[in-house]
This record gives sequence, structure tokens and C-alpha cells, in this order.
Amino acid sequence: MRIDLHCHSTVSDGTDTPSELVARAHEAGLTVMALTDHDTFGGIPEAREAARAMAVRLVPGVELSTELESHSVHLLAYGCDMTHPGLRDEMRRLREGRSGRLPAMCRQLTESGLPLTVEDVMEQVGDSPSVGRPHVADALVAKGYVTSRDEAFAEWLDESRPGYVVRYAVDLEKGIDLVHEAGGAAVIAHPWGRGSADVLTEEVLAALVNDHDLDGVEVDHEDHDADVREQLRRVARSLGVVTTGSSDHHGTGKPHIHLGINTTEPEQFEALEARVRLHGGTIDIR
Ligand code: AMP
Ligand code: ZN
Ligand code: FE
Ligand code: FE
Repeated sequence: MRIDLHCHSTVSDGTDTPSELVARAHEAGLTVMALTDHDTFGGIPEAREAARAMAVRLVPGVELSTELESHSVHLLAYGCDMTHPGLRDEMRRLREGRSGRLPAMCRQLTESGLPLTVEDVMEQVGDSPSVGRPHVADALVAKGYVTSRDEAFAEWLDESRPGYVVRYAVDLEKGIDLVHEAGGAAVIAHPWGRGSADVLTEEVLAALVNDHDLDGVEVDHEDHDADVREQLRRVARSLGVVTTGSSDHHGTGKPHIHLGINTTEPEQFEALEARVRLHGGTIDIR
């Protein structure tokens, strides 16, 4: 079994359609994959159809935008009831926050000497319901201002750069509770990547496990080096939570991140399935 539990499609900021993504997963020898677009389940039906035809097991997932003390935290959710009204409404707010910041981003970039309109960005978004900075990056590439998403982030879109605008995110604890209400299991994505270790300390993680029944942490991720992985795995073991591994594949948006570059151990996936059942949900959707 080769298991990759974190991938993005064109339904958010990835560059493969859900069915292309499943075909690539199959080619890469994955037997289980989760589609975890940002703040939407929109790609799941198409991915499910493709997965059925290719004997890939598709886990329905989503990567929710949450925050802890004004710091962005990504929360992976697996096996939720995708029709749960509370979760559906929250994800709508999150997507509105994504679209709502575009005028300010375009204004700031324009004032910084890169004329850009919301229409320019929407051309890159296509019919994705979940607009992200990578789409703004694509618009900057299309204008010839930069040559890659990476350069766009480094120069213009990262938090300290002139094009950055903060957007709405749901409180992390509330997000975990909401995932559980919808029957799913909650796993913090790349918890110790990009400066997050200062916010998601061992003590904070312990409190999330004790007070909110956090189900797992993503350990094997490209934002974690070998040392971080070892320390985080030790913390996760002592807290008794699931440890996952995944690519966080975005297609050509992050060209060096291949599907299956990191994987989840089968026994950890079984433990995750058990957590989903405990919360009342299921990973095997029809
Ligand atoms: P947003 O969701 O609008 O806050 O944008 C953040 C998303 O951009 C993350 O989920 C990443 O997938 C992506 N991202 C962050 N940094 C980079 C980068 N340097 N190159 C490409 N994509 C990035
Ligand atoms: Zn993304
Ligand atoms: Fe993320
Ligand atoms: Fe992601």
C-alpha cells in the first residue's frame, strides 16, 4: 500500500483536474489518496469517479484555513459528512474571505508598480471556487512580472511582501470541533513548517489533544527536515495521535513536489480510519 493523504487539484490551487490527479496517483503507484483542496469538497465527486475506474481508494478530504493567535494553521479533515450544514457554511465564509481580499491585493500590487486587476486574477482562477495567492502568482507570471509561483511568493505575496493581504480564517479549536461534528478526523497539516513550531508548541499540541481530541499531525512533509520529523514523531507518539505523511502535491505549481514523495504508513492510516469511525464518519463514500 502506498498512501498519500494531502493533494490539491484545480478545484483549489493545484494544476491537475481531480481526474488527472487520480490518474497521476495511479501512475505513481499510489493505492490510497486523499483529495484535500483548500476550503472546498468541490473536486470529490469527479475524483471519486476517476478513482473507481482505476482501483485507487479515494479518501474525501479538505484542508481548512484556520488560525491560532493570528497565525495561519492548515487543518486537514478526513471522512466528514460533506453535506454537514455547519461545515458547509464555514467553508463558504472561508472561500468568501479568499475572494474578498482580491481587490486589496490588486490595489497594493498596482501601487507597487505591478498593474493587476481582479479580472486578470480571475482568468487564472477559471472555475475554481477557492481562490488563493497561487492564482495571483499565476496572474503575475502571465503578465511577465515574474517567472514562477515561487518567485511571485518570494517577491510579492509572502506575508512580509507588498502584495500580502490577510484573510478570514476560522479559529483552530473551533475548526477541530466542527470537523468532529461533521463526523471527520482532524489532522494538523505541516505543523512545524515555516515558523509554525513557535506557535504549535508541544504544550499547545497537547492541549489540542486533551481539550479538543485532535486526531493527528502530518509529520512527513517537505516543509519538515529529517530532524523536525523525528522530534514531531516523538511528540505525536507521546500524545497518542496519528502521524501522517503526504506530498501536498500542487502539480506544476510546486514542480519538485511529486505525488507520493512522502507517504503514510498503513498502520497509521488504519488508526486514522478508526478515528473517523469514532467520530461517526466514513472514509469510504459512495
Ligand atoms: P492562500 O491560501 O491564498 O493563503 O495561499 C497559500 C497557498 O499558497 C498555500 O496553501 C501553498 O499551497 C501555496 N504556496 C505558498 N508558498 C508558495 C510558493 N513559494 N510557491 C508556490 N505556492 C506556494
Ligand atoms: Zn495550496
Ligand atoms: Fe497547507
Ligand atoms: Fe496543502
